[in-house]
Amino acid sequence: LFFLRGAVVVLVCLLTALPGRAEARLTTLAPEPDWSQLDPYQQTITRAEFVRQINTLYAPNGFFWKYAQLGDDRVVVFADTLGTIPLYTLYFAQDAESRRPRPRYFRPESQANTPPPPADQPLAGIHICLDPGHIGGEWSRLEERWFRLGTDNPVAEAELNLLVCRHLERLLKEAGARVSWTKKDLQPVTPQRPRDFHSEALKSLLEAGASLQDLTPGAVARRVQARAEIIFYRTAEIQARTKKVTALQPDLTLCIHYNADSWGNPDKPQLTKASRLVTFVNGCYTEREMAYDDMKFALLSKLLSGAGPLELKGADSVAREMALSFGHPPEPYPHWEAVKQVGRNPYVFARNLIANRLYPGPVVYVEGPYMNAKDTYARLIAGDYEGTRLIQGKEVPSIHRQYAEAVAKSVRDYFKKK
Ligand SMILES: [Zn+2]
Repeated sequence: LFFLRGAVVVLVCLLTALPGRAEARLTTLAPEPDWSQLDPYQQTITRAEFVRQINTLYAPNGFFWKYAQLGDDRVVVFADTLGTIPLYTLYFAQDAESRRPRPRYFRPESQANTPPPPADQPLAGIHICLDPGHIGGEWSRLEERWFRLGTDNPVAEAELNLLVCRHLERLLKEAGARVSWTKKDLQPVTPQRPRDFHSEALKSLLEAGASLQDLTPGAVARRVQARAEIIFYRTAEIQARTKKVTALQPDLTLCIHYNADSWGNPDKPQLTKASRLVTFVNGCYTEREMAYDDMKFALLSKLLSGAGPLELKGADSVAREMALSFGHPPEPYPHWEAVKQVGRNPYVFARNLIANRLYPGPVVYVEGPYMNAKDTYARLIAGDYEGTRLIQGKEVPSIHRQYAEAVAKSVRDYFKKK
């Protein structure tokens, strides 16, 4: 605690003494971008297409342009809003015909000239990565993905996501796909733990404007510990999974989650009336996010990789099947600047989540029904089973199998050659 107090003072001095923006401005744990990694994308996209994707998907609220200058043949991205610290210059292709080929194409885009797969193996040659959301197990409570109603079995999201993914793997493999996982158990992928992030936690609290000086040492320690836990299960864990996805190079990554309304006290949770559904693609970077160099780099990497239109197509397909299967209405998300409904499907939203930002290639981030909704809870408590059971007056299959079947069907549609 004494150390922490001293560290607060030192850090406050350091932060106030920083001369302007001498260093890259980075989010917690983000490595400094290697901008030369974008060089292979020079002249691979036209100006019109670049602008269209920025304005409709990645920064529909306009914040990208606070840090960029658009010319006829190039866009220059800056660290600052005054445009004095250039980070990268991207040159456009003159027109669609003279575009240089992108370094990598994902199926189904790259299937154009390949023969159709056998009818019983529609996903032959396709590589899909499953990313079951959250860590689970002993970490469930810390992740705030755990609640228990009375004497019922506890609901831990990571375990439910894993169940859906196991069924999904079976269905995708039956259709001929190769299936990989970011993780297959209830342990973190990152070898690090919250205790490894105390100094980052303190730094991030101070950067966020927390006034720790007036707190008791015990209160400071608790704030630092809470922030270190978030850095562990959100940032470090997803960074570790990103390494896996990067090495695997799948055609599509599916992030599988169950959604929830806020349940309050996990030991006395609130049940809400009815579920809603939503599927996310990467986009809608906020003003605060755009200020960071690593966010600008991630946005450009994602856009230039060609993932955007594929994510929209995949999310549309998944959202359609999930809505057909479960019948829940879409999320409305009014007045939330970090999300925006995109395309024609009311269930598809752009949101800059750490997983769909960092995982390379097309990522579809699926939110299943609400764990704490009255229309879903009883089915979750019933667990996973074969066939059907009578729940709330209806013969229903295991909710996890129903979820997996909807997603598997949409994946088959997504890769179908048109
Ligand atoms: Zn989740």
